[in-house]
Amino acid sequence: MAEIRVNHLKKNFGDFVAVRDSSFTVKDGEFFCLLGPSGCGKTTTLRMIAGLELPTDGEILLGGDDVTFRRASERDIAFVFQLFALYPHMNVRANIGFPLKCDGLSSSEIRRRVEETAQILRITDLLDKPVSGLSGGDRQRVALGRAIVRKPKAFLMDEPLGALDSEFRHVMCGELRALHNRLKATTVYVTHDQLEAMSMADTIAVMNNGLIEQLGSPREIYDRPASLFVADFIGSPSMNFLDTHAALASGASELAIDGTKIGIPAMRVSVSESDLVLGVRPEHVSLSDQSTLRGEVFGVEYLGTTQIVTVTTKRGMVRARISADMKASLGEHVGLSFRPEKLSVFDKSSGRVLKSALHEGGVHG
Ligand code: ATP
Repeated sequence: MAEIRVNHLKKNFGDFVAVRDSSFTVKDGEFFCLLGPSGCGKTTTLRMIAGLELPTDGEILLGGDDVTFRRASERDIAFVFQLFALYPHMNVRANIGFPLKCDGLSSSEIRRRVEETAQILRITDLLDKPVSGLSGGDRQRVALGRAIVRKPKAFLMDEPLGALDSEFRHVMCGELRALHNRLKATTVYVTHDQLEAMSMADTIAVMNNGLIEQLGSPREIYDRPASLFVADFIGSPSMNFLDTHAALASGASELAIDGTKIGIPAMRVSVSESDLVLGVRPEHVSLSDQSTLRGEVFGVEYLGTTQIVTVTTKRGMVRARISADMKASLGEHVGLSFRPEKLSVFDKSSGRVLKSALHEGGVHG
């Protein structure tokens, strides 16, 4: 397996800029996700790494070698578009062994490698069956087998679970991650589904409009979003945002919203009077009689162990994820309080987070 390094990658289609200036490193053996909404440039980035698209600028290194202008077939990378894409007229054994046959390996070596792969995927009993009769999950395992059997330097996967219903997708995420833990294969995985990325990735690159907004572990991205875009895109329900206009001195640990002073992590920068946005995740909001930040309960969604209570305030809707045992009634007037050490403050005009104690790595609990 090999490290993948991408330096200042750009891709234009005519006047349209699909990938602006992407730089990242996928460490040897890492599971790396490119995550973002439709059209943000994930697939184009992946296709450039695969050698299926030429960059307009920038370079791609695979295991230290510059492969930017090498053909796809010379990169030793397995690309999995859609795990369902199998050859219908071949049985499972022939499907998995096909890439080795193309590479001209002997039939005894093909047999050995196919059987080893089938064992890893626990599909040995399916080897001589036609693919037409297989379940969706087994078809996916076979398609994955066809990628694994080559023992490539890296795997690139483009929305491989996109066609599955959400419950089965969850099961396959678990299987893919377990497989990754065993093979330790360098993997770049494209998805628009934050839950897939959060549950499988070691590192996530959140993309927007051709740019990487943030690179980090799932926990860093969730706890310390670098921008309003990331804060909004990650999490379900997403983060609450409250607008205010204020100046902040370095070290400040309070922000006023409608006359209510709200505790925030100590600031590491000073900002002059400007439009700011306070971000708070629903699980860090609680209903509190003492708070002067008040609103009316507009909706209650019961979710079993928790409930999402939506409160309308002067600054818009605020959602709180609270224990299902707590009582909240429609129309009730409630106060809202936030866990100070979990809040983020953003500069509204740039959309970027303002540095605070939250960004010093010590605040997780
Ligand atoms: P999706 O999941 O919808 O494919 P994505 O993030 O993978 O989204 P890309 O497929 O990388 O997005 O596309 C990025 C942008 O580049 C899109 O606006 C797309 O229309 C455009 N694009 C992609 N390929 C081409 C092409 N060959 N010619 C012109 N524009 C293209």
